[in-house]
Amino acid sequence: MLENALQSRVLVLNRSFMPIQITSAKRAFCMIYLGIAKAVDREYQTFDFESWAQLQIRQNDQAIGMIGKLVKIPRVILLQVYDRMPKKQIRFSRYNIFARDKNICQYCGKRFFRVDLNLDHVIPRSRGGETTWENIVCSCIACNRKKGGRTPKEASMKLVKIPKRPHWTECLNLKPNSPLLKEWLPFLNVVDFSYWTVELEK
Ligand SMILES: [Zn+2]
Repeated sequence: MLENALQSRVLVLNRSFMPIQITSAKRAFCMIYLGIAKAVDREYQTFDFESWAQLQIRQNDQAIGMIGKLVKIPRVILLQVYDRMPKKQIRFSRYNIFARDKNICQYCGKRFFRVDLNLDHVIPRSRGGETTWENIVCSCIACNRKKGGRTPKEASMKLVKIPKRPHWTECLNLKPNSPLLKEWLPFLNVVDFSYWTVELEK
């Protein structure tokens, strides 16, 4: 039980209140205790360890016994030490391209199962098109076949959306089937939220 509580997930924000990763409650407590981070409540107020430990435990709050009393487990913490943007790059993978395009064929706009989707080079490789975030999209097999070795313009097939590298907050180490906590929502922007809800549907 205690072990479970210490493993529960905590959203880490940088000093600009931007989400950068998920950590465990255990590590979050260490960071708060060391002054590396502050706990954040629903009203965006920040607390050091001492003031956080004074907070009343309400019903539905998860808490653990520490320093001889019950201390509420924070759901969100704010780093105090640096505020640079994370350098983490999103891995350029088949999975992440499907995730970015939400399993939607970028030519006909219909959603498919992943097994029925191909990856398409927008500018064909034979024309020097590169294998990059900006030149690869999901395509259904029919659209892929129709387009063949042509550019979208030559094939008169318009892209649903211009492909881009996904925004870095999408690389939070959330896994499909690990639900977002409601306390995190104010800190995740709406675009990211819809992105992850789509992922969680499957
Ligand atoms: Zn299609």
